[in-house]
Amino acid sequence: MIPYLPLNQINARYNPELQDAVNRVITKGIYLLGEETRLFEEEYALYTGTQYCTGCGNGYDALWLIIRAYKEMGIFTDGDEIIVPANTFIASVLAITHNGLKPVFADPAPKTSLIDIEGIEKAITPRCKAVMLVHLYGRNCYSEEIASLCRQRGMKIIEDNAQAHGCIYNGKRTGSLGDAAAHSFYPGKNLGALGDGGAITTNDSALHATIQALHNYGSALKYHHTLEGVNSRLDEIQAAALRVKLRHLDADNNRRKEIAKRYISEISNEAVCLPIVPDYDGHVFHIFPLFTEHRDALRLHLEEAGIKTLIHYPIPVHKQECYKEHGTQSYPVAEQQARTELSLPCHPAMSDSDAAKVIEAVNSFHI
Ligand SMILES: *Cc1c(COP(=O)(O)O)cnc(C)c1O
Repeated sequence: MIPYLPLNQINARYNPELQDAVNRVITKGIYLLGEETRLFEEEYALYTGTQYCTGCGNGYDALWLIIRAYKEMGIFTDGDEIIVPANTFIASVLAITHNGLKPVFADPAPKTSLIDIEGIEKAITPRCKAVMLVHLYGRNCYSEEIASLCRQRGMKIIEDNAQAHGCIYNGKRTGSLGDAAAHSFYPGKNLGALGDGGAITTNDSALHATIQALHNYGSALKYHHTLEGVNSRLDEIQAAALRVKLRHLDADNNRRKEIAKRYISEISNEAVCLPIVPDYDGHVFHIFPLFTEHRDALRLHLEEAGIKTLIHYPIPVHKQECYKEHGTQSYPVAEQQARTELSLPCHPAMSDSDAAKVIEAVNSFHI
């Protein structure tokens, strides 16, 4: 059997280092807001190329904290709008609506599955205060054109970097390109913890200070609460484990790229559309998606060959029951992707022979 994402195998490669890290925290007896978190924040800020980093509970909280902080700073207000792709994981949108703001969906570009300048221009309204750039599947979607449009309109760029740790655009990493970025360290992400975890990176010192207070009950100084904050902290065990895995992130991403390159050059079935990747710096293959009108049949064929696959994501956000007020809107590219996308196994612990089996199985699929 070829699993989709065997987290035990992925983490077993770093077992002695991870055990040491966890033991260090248990022995020391400081479980929150200690040295490991402080050092991880420093190391991750250095890695992404930003001045500031705040660890928090998860990727959703990171997004929520950024938007909430902009509200505290008087930059966003209730009813303001944020442009967000229609084909993202729902957390991107929940962080907007839970803050009393409104999502304006943009249809992604068919070639890349990503939000682009045309989609943003079509979606823009006078109440749009920000664009949320989701680097979906691990692929950068920031561009200078988007940045200059946002500058002209006085709109913030919030990066959802949950899927793209380590991705590079013009020599800079995603997470350092916009005004603020949210990162998820959910175990299955490219930089995955041993449980939940997240972080916010930014170069904006005022935003950083606001988030520092907000994520710890609104207090920068113990028992002095300046803001009505929440409890969303990265714990010391997760921070210690993440420090280990951060050291291996580039090598892990390179292994993902090797497998993705093989898929792209060796899968030759006319029934499937593969991603077109002009620049391997700009893609860290959190997910390897292919698109086919025969998705369900291909999925069954692979299952019978012992290969597990997933679908990212089967229902676009505007068609979810919890967002039924958006249900009559139409985003044809997002809807087509939801109908045709299939994700192949692509992870750093995958062997060459397993990759070859996946290629052979996709190539032997006939309609
Ligand atoms: C995983 C993910 C999130 C949420 O991260 P959690 O840590 O699970 O809260 C947000 N956005 C995208 C695009 C994601 O893939």
